[in-house]
Amino acid sequence: MNSGPLTKTSQTSNRLRYKLATELVFIGNSDGIKDPYASASVPIYQSATFKQSSATQMGEYDYSRSGNPTRSHLENHIAKIMSANRAFVVTSGMSALDVVARLVKSGEEIIAGNDLYGGTNRLLAFLNKSCDIKIHHIDTTSVDTLMQYLHPTKTRLILLESPTNPLFKISDIPTIAAVVHERCPNALVVVDNTMMSPYLQRTLEFGADIEIHSGTKYLSGHHDLMAGVIGVKDEVVAEKIYFTINATGSGLPPFDSWLLLRGIKTLGVRMEKQQANAMQIAEFLEYHGFKVMYPGLKSHPQYELHFTMSCGPGAVLSFVTGDVEISERVVESTKIWAISVSFGCVNSLISMPCRMSHASIPAAIRQERGFPEDLIRLCVGIEDANDLIEDLYSALVLANAIDVDQQNENA
Ligand SMILES: *Cc1c(COP(=O)(O)O)cnc(C)c1O
Repeated sequence: MNSGPLTKTSQTSNRLRYKLATELVFIGNSDGIKDPYASASVPIYQSATFKQSSATQMGEYDYSRSGNPTRSHLENHIAKIMSANRAFVVTSGMSALDVVARLVKSGEEIIAGNDLYGGTNRLLAFLNKSCDIKIHHIDTTSVDTLMQYLHPTKTRLILLESPTNPLFKISDIPTIAAVVHERCPNALVVVDNTMMSPYLQRTLEFGADIEIHSGTKYLSGHHDLMAGVIGVKDEVVAEKIYFTINATGSGLPPFDSWLLLRGIKTLGVRMEKQQANAMQIAEFLEYHGFKVMYPGLKSHPQYELHFTMSCGPGAVLSFVTGDVEISERVVESTKIWAISVSFGCVNSLISMPCRMSHASIPAAIRQERGFPEDLIRLCVGIEDANDLIEDLYSALVLANAIDVDQQNENA
């Protein structure tokens, strides 16, 4: 399906010397902290303070809110794999979005997608209400629509997700970035790239100014920590972001930094396996006549656009059954697939976004945005693909989503 992750990178970036799968586990001497014992795993500097050599001379670190060696090591590693000039890690994906949103002053405007993560919608609604920041929720799949909302001085952020979750709408990030930078020199293009991870898509390489991740998802991979990541291109913007993190105290603690660094090492193998499983499941569902939303399928209306930016479709997909009750029964009938929000974990999850992750969006708005109430979302893990398919098939039959007699007649 693709020429393997990161052939593209080695041509466009001078930071990555090897393919990303290699860089993920390769922690060089120069980007690390100086450890006196040459430890193979970066130590956890579980210390709030660091001693000074005199009253006036400060060392590299003094207080962990401002900086911690374990966190710095992780940030350097992440900057490399995101092709960022600087990267920051904070206590959750929402904290990353909050820190970036603080670049916007009252009276300025944000243009955001209309199929964003529910928590992002809630944060934007809060900014609108209490900080006099205007938010335009628009269909960012159309560059023409987006252009109508650009204001030469007021527009400060363009906030994108591509693909969106769970409808898998794709936005043309390079074209949007070019148009925005030409018309609004003050505006920053921000991509929440959580769905793809830096393994499949690195948006700073093709025009984004800031890339955000919920490290809670693929980067950590095991649903055992919460973290947020911010990758930045411009040094002035990076300094503002560092200021906010230090001023508000949202930097990731040392133990969580260590866990996230450990998770990132296996991102490549996890994503390859999860994505291969997801592709098989998408084909299985499509074969049985379901309408499937997944950028790995040729039936996806923006299949080609997606692959101009990414080297894989990821491991989340959704489908509809035509009936809300049937969908509920499917979700409740699986055994391996756990009913849970979130994604990016090594084990497989099933959910009904309208009842779960996206329930905070009012039903009327969901309808307006073409959000099917019977939508089932699958977040595919690393289990055996046949086990996953058999479990799903049993649930679909039990819920009458697949008519077995009909299928036997056709056979
Ligand atoms: C989960 C998620 C977030 C929020 O991240 P947390 O770590 O849960 O705070 C933001 N954006 C997207 C796309 C997400 O999937």
